[in-house]
Amino acid sequence: MATNSWSPSSWREKPIAQDVIYEDKAHLDRVLGKLRRLPPLVAPAEIDRLRSQLADVAAGKAFLLQGGDCAELFDDCSQAPIEHKLSLILLMSLIILHGSRLPVVRVMRIAGQYAKPRSKPTEIVELDVTEVVDGKTVTRKEKKEVLSFRGDNVNGYEPTDRQADPERLLGAYFHSAASINYIRTLLASGFADLHKPLDWSFSHVRSPELQEAFSSVIESLQESLSFMKIATGTAGGQERGGAETVDLFTSHEALLLEYEEAFTRLGGDGVPQSFSTPPTRPGTPSVSRSASHARVPTSDSNAAPSPTASTQLPRPKYYNTSSHFIWIGDRTRQLDGAHVEYFRGIANPIGVKVGPTMQPDELVRLLDVVNPDRIPGKVTVIGRYGADKVDQYLPAHIDAVKKTDHVVVWQCDAMHGNTKTSAADPTLKTRHFRDVVQEIIRSLEIHREKGTILGGIHLELTGEVNEEGYSVTECIGGSMELADKDLSLNYRTHCDPRLNYEQSLDVAFLVADHLKA
Ligand code: PEP
Ligand code: MN
Repeated sequence: MATNSWSPSSWREKPIAQDVIYEDKAHLDRVLGKLRRLPPLVAPAEIDRLRSQLADVAAGKAFLLQGGDCAELFDDCSQAPIEHKLSLILLMSLIILHGSRLPVVRVMRIAGQYAKPRSKPTEIVELDVTEVVDGKTVTRKEKKEVLSFRGDNVNGYEPTDRQADPERLLGAYFHSAASINYIRTLLASGFADLHKPLDWSFSHVRSPELQEAFSSVIESLQESLSFMKIATGTAGGQERGGAETVDLFTSHEALLLEYEEAFTRLGGDGVPQSFSTPPTRPGTPSVSRSASHARVPTSDSNAAPSPTASTQLPRPKYYNTSSHFIWIGDRTRQLDGAHVEYFRGIANPIGVKVGPTMQPDELVRLLDVVNPDRIPGKVTVIGRYGADKVDQYLPAHIDAVKKTDHVVVWQCDAMHGNTKTSAADPTLKTRHFRDVVQEIIRSLEIHREKGTILGGIHLELTGEVNEEGYSVTECIGGSMELADKDLSLNYRTHCDPRLNYEQSLDVAFLVADHLKA
């Protein structure tokens, strides 16, 4: 069990799951030194804003949409893939907002979702071996055991490039920075403007039903916008009533704790050198606290500083500034382990993946450790049970949390309990659209029965299309009616299978319908 003194590096004293072994420790240390000097990717004020929006989700006043790749690749950091992913999330959020009449909190698995936990540290691959036999060069296949691919920030996908390389951590930072910069650029230049959502590359969607359903969402939305303009008297003017852009947050699984530690920075109120601009409170002395003397606060620094404190300084907090939201994976959530230790000290809103192996009392103890101050919106419980297991495990988890004073966001990850092998090609992983949908619907229903709220969904998806404009073919079913035999047409993922553009919109319409009910 975690003890009370925490620092960004206290996780190093704990047993760690899914560790990465670097052969050249001096090289790793040089890279980490560099990472510690690099600027943050997100600001404490943004992180705090997300946490407060998630408190609304927990209270049923907003809906959380989280999605993106299973694993980003450095090669995906390019204009078109980023635009496609962003437009898909924006479209889905619009559909859900329109159906549910709830604000949608958008969190992408992007700008840092590189590291992957693996079920086995090694795998058997077939490699081409070339040799000279009797003066002739012959190439034959040979089965070889190699280290598993751990994500682009650890090693390469090519079986010959599996040694962990610290330089890849720098690659992760710079690709994350380029991705988040392009997202910010798009948002700042009107990409998310609700007055022109038809620009969000919807035209390639071939299903007439989807096209029609979406057009009717847009029509009704544009009607509401014109009504708002008339109602607020802004019809002829410049002001457009705040519909020009949206909040968009980043997230990833915080697996590589060396990297996360390097971006754990003091921020928020009371840190004048902070990249956020703290509001000036009347009577607050502008005295800085040096990072080395600052302590981790034991309660939420949004609370007013204690009147008995002699200095009356607001309390700074440690933020993970590599992403707005980070989560603990199902394989690394051991109560006495390094990941839980790291997570309990940061101010970011966090997710915990919860599957069939989580005991109800263990879930409660985990919440106690990562959220001792019971900050609403702080923890998102990301259920990933599987369509055939959600009925068996979710109710007990809800009951256990209901008995406590924890206010969590309940989210359904409808992907990770539903991974199957393709019948046509056993080397391909796939997921059935009907399982994804069933897990979401059952989660919604179970929460309704229990008087709790399913606050959001968590999906692996991509809006990417190939050169001919076709979406990826990694999951089976949906309005496109993709069959098992179609999977090889445009199967691109290097990790788990993702819903494609059309399948993702199908899910959004379905969720919107259920939230209306
Ligand atoms: C993931 O979200 O990609 C993942 C590995 O999930 P889990 O930890 O739930 O298996
Ligand atoms: Mn995955």
